[in-house]
Amino acid sequence: MHETSIALSILAAVEDAFKETPGAKRVTKIRLQVGMLSLVDPEALRFALQVVSRDTPAEGAEIEIEMVKPRFRCNRCGYEWEPRDEDIEKISQDPQLSTLVHINPDIVAQYLTCPRCGSNDVEIVRGKGVILHSVDIETEEESGGGQQ
Ligand SMILES: [Zn+2]
Repeated sequence: MHETSIALSILAAVEDAFKETPGAKRVTKIRLQVGMLSLVDPEALRFALQVVSRDTPAEGAEIEIEMVKPRFRCNRCGYEWEPRDEDIEKISQDPQLSTLVHINPDIVAQYLTCPRCGSNDVEIVRGKGVILHSVDIETEEESGGGQQ
């Protein structure tokens, strides 16, 4: 399950942020941006993250997931565009292609041509992969319970 490996790398980044925060007590909120092109199931990812964060400072943190629409750019003429929703659906419904894209979203670029100049030299500027947007960490001071 690909979601688990993504969850583990997110958790590692969250734990890094935790270690770098003085007086950190626990992680209260994790905000993620999931590229629609990654074909990551947000609920599967949420569940995987809850599982891997058990017995870590991130256990029980609220997980906020924002879906990010992909954007492509033509390297020949510089044109930028967003795919239609049905194009993304087409990818996700093709079992072979969706598996490839799920593992490596860059593969989509090979199937694209620029709608303006017809070039195949297309790159994905946004909407692949999963990004850790921000982490909220409760610290000793904020909790107000203890002494300084
Ligand atoms: Zn072009």
